[in-house]
Amino acid sequence: MTTTSYHPETIAVHGGSFRNDASTNSVAVPIYQTTSYQFNNQEHASNLFSLKELGNIYTRIMNPTTAVLEERIAQLEGGLAAVAVSSGQSATAFAIQNLCQAGDNIVSSTDLYGGTWNQFANTFNQLGIEVRFADPEDPMNFAKLTDEKTRGYYAETLPNPKLNVFPIEEVAKIGKQKGIPLIVDNTAAPITCKPIKHGASIVVHSLTKWIGGHGTSIGGIIVDSGKFDWTKFPDKQPLYNKPDPNYWGWILGKVVPEVLGANITFAVRARFVLLRDMGSCLSPTNAFNFIQGLETLPLRFKQHQKNAYKVADYLLKNNKISKVIYPGFQIGVYKERSDKYLEYGKGPLVGFELKDGFESGKKFIDNLKLIYHVANIGDARTLAIHPASTTHSQLSKEDQLKTGVTPGYIRLSVGIEHIDDILEDIEQAL
Ligand code: PLP
Repeated sequence: MTTTSYHPETIAVHGGSFRNDASTNSVAVPIYQTTSYQFNNQEHASNLFSLKELGNIYTRIMNPTTAVLEERIAQLEGGLAAVAVSSGQSATAFAIQNLCQAGDNIVSSTDLYGGTWNQFANTFNQLGIEVRFADPEDPMNFAKLTDEKTRGYYAETLPNPKLNVFPIEEVAKIGKQKGIPLIVDNTAAPITCKPIKHGASIVVHSLTKWIGGHGTSIGGIIVDSGKFDWTKFPDKQPLYNKPDPNYWGWILGKVVPEVLGANITFAVRARFVLLRDMGSCLSPTNAFNFIQGLETLPLRFKQHQKNAYKVADYLLKNNKISKVIYPGFQIGVYKERSDKYLEYGKGPLVGFELKDGFESGKKFIDNLKLIYHVANIGDARTLAIHPASTTHSQLSKEDQLKTGVTPGYIRLSVGIEHIDDILEDIEQAL
């Protein structure tokens, strides 16, 4: 069902063109655990390779189980097409590689998941792609760092540990005037934020987190809004406006919409160039696991958010805690942003600072009985970590503070257990 007017709860279950399996009538999406697909005849094969027809060639590039997931998530995010990949990190890497060649740059928000920070500051840097970091407090910082080699802007909707919501519309507008698309990692705010509605051109997710929802599978996805005009500022997007040696010298920005009848150019390039050449495809079994997770995402996310609010509220009243970091409790510009962009709940993450600092942070973690101590977010279970002694321990004290990590900071990814049990565990651990 492709009706875009359905609500998220319905799209999560019915979204996309899959109704039942064409050959067996199976209602559940089958796991097509195959590498390859028999062509009908020579003409069919040649049409598929020349993109005259879209269809299955080889599972590194596409797969019917994965396609159901891709269509549903594209619809949920309000995009035109999506490409699933083997991890959230891969989704980010592909989104950047789909814009940049050596010598180009992107401007990224400073407020990032640590793995993304490393990918940008070190790995892309070694490949000759520079990432310039802009403090999102003032959206104009993106404009200030932009030059003629800037190909994209990048940010997370709800970055932790600060949980300061990113000004999507403001930065997207700056980019559009300059021919630069905004990529938003919406991993921590599915359902509650719709970055494309606010002007983002590309959305990426780590499927590993709330969409999978059960901590069983690693995956990522790139959603193409279909709204970015790749040919408007030809000099700004050379990969879409110069003859592409990957595809018979096609000017992708012009030819893809002509041949396929839709502006899914970014998704097509990610699939037919990057998945083909770099190869980090999602396994069909993990795609199936994510389809199961997606079906209950809207329900689970409501519960995650409801519990997160109650945990934040409880922590606010506890005298061992000096500060609670929660989008619903912010003030000033960050309150405005969280009210504007987190439309259906203030997210599932809560941070807090223990008055007694580093040692009390470590002790709190060791005292936990129900809550898991893991370096992850987005599980059905409540998860906790003390960043100063783990994820951020390699950073200097000064750099830790810049990222929002104080010695007594604890990050909670609040799960879907009964709230009384979560609070009881926090209370005894405190
Ligand atoms: N984006 C965010 C916001 C994350 O938190 C993570 C992982 O923690 C990633 C991307 C990377 O996802 P994955 O672990 O699926 O590669």
